[in-house]
Amino acid sequence: MEVQLKELKKRLPQLFSREKFSFSEEVRYAHSFDASRLRGVPEVVFFPETEEDVTKLVKLCFNYRVPIFCRGAGTATTGSSLPMMPAVVISFSKMNRILELNQEERVLRVQPGVLTGKIKEYLRKYQLFYPPDPASYKYSTIGGNVATGAGGPRCFKYGTTRDYVLALRVVLADGRVLKTAPYTLKHSAYYNLTPIFVGSEGTLGIFTEIVLKVVPLPESSYLFLVGFSKEEDALTFINRVIKFGITPSAAEFVDKTTLKALSSFEEARDLIYQLGRNLEALLFLELDGEEEKVRKEVAKVKEFLKEKGLSYLGSGVEPEIESLWEVRRCISPSLRRLGSFKVSDDVTIPRRYSEEFLRFLRRLEGESGIFVCAFGHAGDGNFHVNLITDDEKKRATVEELRKKIIKQVLSLGGTSSGEHGIGYTKKTFLSFELDEVQKDLMKKLKKLFDPYGILSPGVKVVDE
Ligand SMILES: Cc1cc2nc3c(=O)[nH]c(=O)nc-3n(C[C@H](O)[C@H](O)[C@H](O)COP(=O)(O)OP(=O)(O)OC[C@H]3O[C@@H](n4cnc5c(N)ncnc54)[C@H](O)[C@@H]3O)c2cc1C
Repeated sequence: MEVQLKELKKRLPQLFSREKFSFSEEVRYAHSFDASRLRGVPEVVFFPETEEDVTKLVKLCFNYRVPIFCRGAGTATTGSSLPMMPAVVISFSKMNRILELNQEERVLRVQPGVLTGKIKEYLRKYQLFYPPDPASYKYSTIGGNVATGAGGPRCFKYGTTRDYVLALRVVLADGRVLKTAPYTLKHSAYYNLTPIFVGSEGTLGIFTEIVLKVVPLPESSYLFLVGFSKEEDALTFINRVIKFGITPSAAEFVDKTTLKALSSFEEARDLIYQLGRNLEALLFLELDGEEEKVRKEVAKVKEFLKEKGLSYLGSGVEPEIESLWEVRRCISPSLRRLGSFKVSDDVTIPRRYSEEFLRFLRRLEGESGIFVCAFGHAGDGNFHVNLITDDEKKRATVEELRKKIIKQVLSLGGTSSGEHGIGYTKKTFLSFELDEVQKDLMKKLKKLFDPYGILSPGVKVVDE
């Protein structure tokens, strides 16, 4: 490998101008971490400006059998953009243009390095909307979102990234370019290859162009922040609203342990105290759509809240809605106060088992003395389970708890990841989750797209 890498490094200055690659220690270090606690320093960082740059580099890597990892903004929680062996990292920071909006058909064509927040801002000018909204949307890229199959609060009503990708241009491991589908709103001529790449975490191909479906911006929205004195009641309340026929655009749950941390966080504390002092849970419930429909739904939810005697804050006005959502965004930083060692998973279960799952987590918390938080997208059964402790000696117990939780999730018919992907950090769980047929086909699919295993080796696919 060392010899091939040396050869490849010699060829780069012959093929590309100086600003398109870097061997410098600073640049390599800057591309060596993400939001996991893993580190992986690349040998070379490559900055393509065009698809042709990508194909030229990939052909070179294919010939020398040098591994390639793609990188958007490096916000993934699983280490999936980090090389654990000598490799090239392709940074898409210079392929960051919005290429074309077709307003009539509501189709947007972009390069992979565009920040998702920039797409949202751009579409707003045309009264259009790209719904998937990972909490990181302001600083993560659309390429990274597609490669992880990212979700977020509004995905309960609108669907995840997966539901908005119409087609991709993908550079394959040997440098050929695949257009996964025609750029039309429907098609049934070829095998539908697009979804195979969504959530593939850089292991099957490299996106150079992404075609997205977009929708009209909702006319109106209203956000409730509700306080509950018993945490399970918040989950029951979501079911009540949905059963009535209302589909909230977001139903975000804050459990007892998370609320403990959040209530001591200065930026969130005052708003939470307006709801009462002895709360066990919060629920962010957002409704959106046509003005008249939202008005009726808001009235209905207020009726339910009154029936149950629940305290709430609510607003249909933009700056106030944002300041309520700000409380939700304080969760991640506030959790650090519970302890310095934190492991986070994003399990998903069928929503009907939410209360049972929460009771199971509380039992584990009681037995282990480790903080167990379970906040997140309760509307679609996607809980961000965070295990937190300050006690060094309990790290092994944390890993045992993780396994117990995943086994419980799988026994309820759930999955180990709803939106963050597998990367390196959840590979053990994937091996519990997949059956022999699934494992076999995943390996064969990987071999078909990447015969020499040069695309993100070690990521996602279960080892032999
Ligand atoms: C505070 C915080 C909050 C978060 N909240 C959410 C959330 O609510 N929902 C959610 O889903 N995630 C969330 N995440 C996780 C993360 O932001 C997402 O996984 C995001 O999609 C990663 O995008 P990125 O641009 O940072 O990609 P990176 O981390 O750079 O890469 C992620 C994966 O995408 C691959 N990739 C990148 N570009 C390409 C390309 N052009 N072609 C092929 N593969 C490519 C990489 O190889 C890697 O496998 C959060 C992270 C943080 C730090």
